[in-house]
Amino acid sequence: MYKLLRTGLLTIISIFVFDKKKLFFNNYLLHKFNPDTLTKVKHLLTSPAEIVVTSHYNPDGDALGSSLALSRYLTKKGHSVTTIIPNDFPGFLQWMPGQKDIVVYFHKSKTADELLKNAKIIFSLDYNAISRVNLFADQLAKAKGVKILIDHHLEPEKEFDFSFSVIKTSSTSELVFDFIEALDDAHLIDAEIAINLYVGIMTDTGSFSFACNYPRTYEVVARLVEAGVDTEQVHRLVYDTYSESRMRLLGFCLSERMKVLPEHSTAYIWLTQEDLDKFDFNPGDTEGVVNYALSIKGISFAALFTEKEDRIRISFRSKGNFSVNNFARDHYQGGGHRNASGGDSFDKMPVTLSKFEALLPRYQEGLLSAAQQSSRLNPL
Ligand code: 5GP
Ligand code: MN
Repeated sequence: MYKLLRTGLLTIISIFVFDKKKLFFNNYLLHKFNPDTLTKVKHLLTSPAEIVVTSHYNPDGDALGSSLALSRYLTKKGHSVTTIIPNDFPGFLQWMPGQKDIVVYFHKSKTADELLKNAKIIFSLDYNAISRVNLFADQLAKAKGVKILIDHHLEPEKEFDFSFSVIKTSSTSELVFDFIEALDDAHLIDAEIAINLYVGIMTDTGSFSFACNYPRTYEVVARLVEAGVDTEQVHRLVYDTYSESRMRLLGFCLSERMKVLPEHSTAYIWLTQEDLDKFDFNPGDTEGVVNYALSIKGISFAALFTEKEDRIRISFRSKGNFSVNNFARDHYQGGGHRNASGGDSFDKMPVTLSKFEALLPRYQEGLLSAAQQSSRLNPL
């Protein structure tokens, strides 16, 4: 009798769990976009138009990958398309297909202003507020073209005409795949588009180590591999590109400039201008450095402080449910995602660091609980 009851109970529980899982998966398989917005944008794209695709200041792999892929897709559809980014991108992305045609605002502001003024449609990729394009924020704000956002950052502004904002996704590149597919054009995804999208997904998930617990991401990746991505080669092209000085800078960061505060489950690294000069700093050389601090056992919060001419730029990373988006918003006029964000300090380095340390006790509970949560397997 007891055995029978137990089996019955277990069956009921497993059906419930299975159904819940099924529901969960279906949510991510279903399309994430508002059908009404999609119909309107589809209509907008039916006749050839002058289009500008933009992305954020200090463009990363996802900013470039999503922009280059979308630009090529729209070009294949017969539009006249230009990608505009605010400033240069790091050397390890300088092999990406199509990047030679990008207009970098910092170098060609007149051309870019003209393009922004004349564009009928302007896409905003991988950022949630016009201010994030920095150098051409004013020109973008006053441009007359229809503004379409495709992005995965938290708290998107309402300054766009159409918005495809999905937080629970790996990257903007994944959303561009979804966007093309939702417009019934998946067949236009060629190897060049696929490689760009793959770079975006791979870099924004730290090679599939965060923001990648969504089944949909792997379905998209499967389609991209089918379309011709050599994932091993792309990984090598992006990550096996350290110059000797960049590698030595990383060593220096870890041995001389990293402070670990186990009592707050926090580790941080700081770099002064003098340090950067010593190691022949190039943009992108500190990319990923903050993740080394986060990969220490028991650490749930990591920060990298880099001295710039007029400010200290800060990168935040966290594990689990400690939100560095909130932390950056509340104290450093920044933002981003729950586990990766950025901000600025306008104090000198020593003051910046002591103020940062002074903030930590306030977050003690959250930091410790994130560290505990991330050091065990969650109940199955
Ligand atoms: P990173 O540390 O790599 O510069 O930035 C991490 C993440 O935070 C990226 O997704 C980036 O878009 C976002 N982010 C960085 N700085 C800022 C900022 O000042 N404001 C906002 N809203 N997001 C930022
Ligand atoms: Mn992104």
